[in-house]
Amino acid sequence: MSVLEIRNLRATVAGKEILTGMNLTVRSGEVHAIMGPNGAGKSTFSAVLMGKRGYEVTSGSVELDGVDLLAMPTWQRAVAGLHLVMQYPTEVPGVHVDELIEQAWRARGRSTTELAGAVVAEAERINFDPRLVQRAVNVDLSGGEKKRNETMQLALLKPKFAILDELDSGLDVDALRDCARRVEDATNEDSLGAIVVTHYARLLEDLKPDFVHILVKGRIVESGGPELADRLEADGYAAFSG
Ligand code: ADP
Ligand code: MG
Repeated sequence: MSVLEIRNLRATVAGKEILTGMNLTVRSGEVHAIMGPNGAGKSTFSAVLMGKRGYEVTSGSVELDGVDLLAMPTWQRAVAGLHLVMQYPTEVPGVHVDELIEQAWRARGRSTTELAGAVVAEAERINFDPRLVQRAVNVDLSGGEKKRNETMQLALLKPKFAILDELDSGLDVDALRDCARRVEDATNEDSLGAIVVTHYARLLEDLKPDFVHILVKGRIVESGGPELADRLEADGYAAFSG
């Protein structure tokens, strides 16, 4: 059992405070949905957790099993067990998916003898054409293929915790269902803890949250169970002021 603990996290971007005191505790196997209006700071939260350049933490802490993640560069956070599926997956010309996964396995000290088979099995499981694995990361892929590709990597790397930033943006309903179900399966099979950032309750039909949090103006203003997502769908964000 692992714990990701975020305490009183404040962060600025371009001199402006965007995260104004985030508190969140996620345990292995739990799904926490974070919902909030445009500009609330959801992607900023994802970027700060992963250590993206340009985002400055001004106070607070992020710990994984008591280890300070904020002191680490991004790659070390990933090796420690934190994984981000970006809202808009980056295209990386010249870096091939299979090589990327191989390097990531090596960095985690895993034997790569069974990797090729595992990649094909995972690609097929998520309806991602295994031939695309030999191509450059996300280059010339459709929105749905990019998210399938990213979700396949998540499944292969088996992080302790994943942040999924609007998994539902830029893909059709079939791809959304496949990706959401694969992540849901990982929470059950591998005890993945997931932070699921979304605008829409629809995603949460396949990726079932244990907790729902409403993020407004850089902090969580309300937390509850899955019923909170339904209330939000009915009443909109206006009912939750920052
Ligand atoms: P959300 O994902 O909830 O829609 P974001 O975290 O993307 O919101 O953005 C929150 C606020 O931070 C917005 O006002 C946005 O303009 C600002 N912001 C985010 N990233 C940057 C950046 N790199 N430079 C300047 N402003 C940024
Ligand atoms: Mg966003």
